[in-house]
Amino acid sequence: MARVIAVANQKGGVGKTTTSINLAASLAAAGQRVLLVDMDAQGNATMGVGVDKAGLKLTGCDVLLGERSLGEAVRPVLDGRFDLLPANGDMTAAEVGLRRRRNGELALSEALRDARGRYDYVIADCPPALSMLTVNALSACDGVLIPMQCEYYALEGLTALMDTIEKVRAVINPRLRIEGLLRTMYDPRNRLSGDVSAQLLSHFGEQVYETIIPRNVRLAEAPSHGLPALDYDASAAGAKAYRALADEVLARARDGQRNTETSHGG
Ligand code: ADP
Ligand code: MG
Repeated sequence: MARVIAVANQKGGVGKTTTSINLAASLAAAGQRVLLVDMDAQGNATMGVGVDKAGLKLTGCDVLLGERSLGEAVRPVLDGRFDLLPANGDMTAAEVGLRRRRNGELALSEALRDARGRYDYVIADCPPALSMLTVNALSACDGVLIPMQCEYYALEGLTALMDTIEKVRAVINPRLRIEGLLRTMYDPRNRLSGDVSAQLLSHFGEQVYETIIPRNVRLAEAPSHGLPALDYDASAAGAKAYRALADEVLARARDGQRNTETSHGG
């Protein structure tokens, strides 16, 4: 059964899309069957894996509104190394349509139901808002991965995100947990980065990934070539960091599995 991870933070520019693309590519490189779901009307994850968002016949919008099945709208990307459910401006219509619907929060969860057996990981790149689309991703996922830029205002807004996660867990999705907090765009020369990072560790402890994503120009350049960093420059520090993150995600899943087995007496 696929493990579904929502990459969420209502702040824009914190590295959600960069993380979604590069985690998806790195998990695929580690032999996992991966589906990347673009939930953002900006379609940045779609473009970032080399798909022209303007030329799409079918998108996640058609799937979320129940007009098409997931399988019809999903396409293989990067020589078939993983799959993408693409998005473009039509996602705005999905947001509006689902808000009017009863149980509109559950559209992604329902769409993924039959696909869960075909993948090991589903990575959902959320829009920069606590919107209906983000709530859909939180409702469908096992864990939420929160990218955080280690800057002064990083912790601001985290309370709102945690409240939303708490509500979704209480009302819709009892499985939902924090997959991890990820420090992104880290600059060791900036003292503030170190301070914010220390604050995160003291608040969230082991929920913070050991892996730190450095500020790395290759990560910023790769999307304009429609490539994950791994394909654009595998030797870059950013690409290596995302490989390490994928290893950490896999290790945490194994540990979680082991703990569950232990608690069931196995
Ligand atoms: P979000 O999806 O949260 O809005 P993005 O992943 O699009 O954030 O990142 C915002 C901008 O920062 C993009 O231009 C991206 O290329 C760049 N970026 C993201 N992570 C890094 C990094 N580690 N180093 C350098 N640039 C980065
Ligand atoms: Mg984004």
